[in-house]
Amino acid sequence: KLADSAQTIEANIQVVVRCRDVPSKGSKNRPTVTVPSDFGLGVETEDPKTLFKKRYNFDGVFGPRATQEQVYQKVAHPILEEVMQGYSCTIFAYGQTGTGKTYTMQGDPKPANSETSNGGVVKGDLLASLQIPTNAGLIPRTLYNLFYILEKRSAKYEVSVSYVELYNENLMDLLSSAGSGKGPTLIITGPTPGKGVVIKNLTEVSVTNAADAMVLLNTGTQHRKVAATRCNKESSRSHAIFTITVKITERDTTGSGQAIVKLGKLNLVDLAGSENVGRSGADARETSSINESLFYLGRVISAVTAKDPHVPYRNSKLTKILQDSLGGNMRACMIATINTSPQNFNETDNTLEYANQTK
Ligand code: ADP
Ligand code: MG
Repeated sequence: KLADSAQTIEANIQVVVRCRDVPSKGSKNRPTVTVPSDFGLGVETEDPKTLFKKRYNFDGVFGPRATQEQVYQKVAHPILEEVMQGYSCTIFAYGQTGTGKTYTMQGDPKPANSETSNGGVVKGDLLASLQIPTNAGLIPRTLYNLFYILEKRSAKYEVSVSYVELYNENLMDLLSSAGSGKGPTLIITGPTPGKGVVIKNLTEVSVTNAADAMVLLNTGTQHRKVAATRCNKESSRSHAIFTITVKITERDTTGSGQAIVKLGKLNLVDLAGSENVGRSGADARETSSINESLFYLGRVISAVTAKDPHVPYRNSKLTKILQDSLGGNMRACMIATINTSPQNFNETDNTLEYANQTK
């Protein structure tokens, strides 16, 4: 029996901002971006040239001193708990190239120091043996916490992962054993009840522990880089979606003792850089498809947030793939990444406006 999400949760999309510090030569009359040093709710911008001041409020603002663990605890852990209840959820990183999307989602492969901390589980004392590098991002932390929690439960579980890249509206299987770009054509199907959206022909690998899942994440990311170099394409212009599917089978303790299956899914999305044509020098076709998919994503999020009955999912592959985790029973979070550099002020302003509109 498939758990019929009896307790419907409100569609809920959170928008948070993460700001990294970029040292810049102090000079007067430069635009400024003011954020809390580690965590708060507001961002202020000021452009002395136009005398324009803006104040934005978000569900959370992580400043330059916020740790990976803090971001995990506030953003990803509550979503992981929903996924383990059988919901489909999404976490995105949106922002200009170089502002920390990949750092936030995956972390730094070469840690600045070899220090480790626990995995960021809310109830900390339990994780004595689980050491995660301090620079590890949301994906590794989610995986380690997921398996840690599953291991402690008596329920039966199956976890699998897939990893797909979307470039110019073309899908590429990053875990394909045929070699990336060489397997059969990927086709987005659904959503169908119980199964949601399925990408036909996409490699889905069963994993039994976090370390194995991390090997797949890293291999897929490497494939993405190699393919990008070979085809002379820029990986900052593609979206990467790492999906964790969790199936938990429990005995119904309230009555019949029937097996109850909870099928949850988490999409972790590293979006294409949000910078515009002039800046990145991307060709018109590519940029327009990036801008379009990011534009339609924004439209979908605003429609869901506004409880609009007509959510325009069908306009781009990105929103088609995310359809079942961006409407109905889901929880999602967009992390908009920015920096404090005056040189990037226009992009920062664009990102804050985009994030603000999707609230
Ligand atoms: P993006 O994926 O948005 O292009 P990256 O995640 O690759 O950006 O970040 C660019 C560089 O900045 C990387 O070297 C990364 O390690 C570093 N970086 C990004 N965010 C932070 C942060 N919050 N703290 C420390 N270093 C960061
Ligand atoms: Mg990146």
